[in-house]
Amino acid sequence: MADIFSYESSEIDWCEDNYKHSEQVVESFNTMSSFIFFIIAPIMLYLLHPYAKERNLAIHLVWIMMIFVGLFSAYFHMTLSFVGQMLDELSILWVLAAGYALWFPRRLFPPFIKDRSTFSTLVLVVTVVTTASSFVKPTANAYALNCFGLHLLYVLAVEMKHCTDEKALRLAKFSVVLWVLAISCWISDRFGCSFWRKLNFCYLHGFWHILIAIAVAYGSTLIAYLDANYEIPYSLPGLQYWPCDKWAVGLPHIVLKGTTKTRKRC
Ligand SMILES: [Zn+2]
Repeated sequence: MADIFSYESSEIDWCEDNYKHSEQVVESFNTMSSFIFFIIAPIMLYLLHPYAKERNLAIHLVWIMMIFVGLFSAYFHMTLSFVGQMLDELSILWVLAAGYALWFPRRLFPPFIKDRSTFSTLVLVVTVVTTASSFVKPTANAYALNCFGLHLLYVLAVEMKHCTDEKALRLAKFSVVLWVLAISCWISDRFGCSFWRKLNFCYLHGFWHILIAIAVAYGSTLIAYLDANYEIPYSLPGLQYWPCDKWAVGLPHIVLKGTTKTRKRC
């Protein structure tokens, strides 16, 4: 039992040299880069608060869970333990499940599901069952993760096809670019390690952490923006970038131009 907590008990070992900077930390850069989640998550919680307050405070669960993704990712890369790997992978499943339960468009619910709370309960049951079964069969998590992720991606792609909103389209393009860059880093580190070793540059998995954290900020804000247009249209949702809307780079967020008074008058 203690074995699953021990250093390097996971079958996975990323390209970065082990114990290069410390005897306690297996992969220093991969561990350090996980801290990006601790920076981005609180900013996103703050930026999305007006939208969450109007729509549902449970929206905050996504970025609260992202803090745990960062925490477990740091623990995994610090120890490369089996438990670290499980926690890292499962926390990603829970973030995706939360996003799926909160944002999956109501009009696309299957006919036997009447409201979002029933839908969320169903997602919760699937997530709990998957979590339990991944202790017996670790690949169970990967299946559920891909199901939630790919379905959300498909719905988003269909949605964007009919979208004429310039700002949303720009955000979608940036999200895709960031996501492709992030995935390329992950794949390249996993399968092209001998090449990167020759160049003495074994840090691509760390760059995956940084890029995916930003990609999630972009992608989830896009989903939240589309959701706001359907669920709380009276609040006149708009897209802006933090810290300055005019800058080419920044974190996207939703601003609500309408007030609750607008709703009451309607
Ligand atoms: Zn990682």
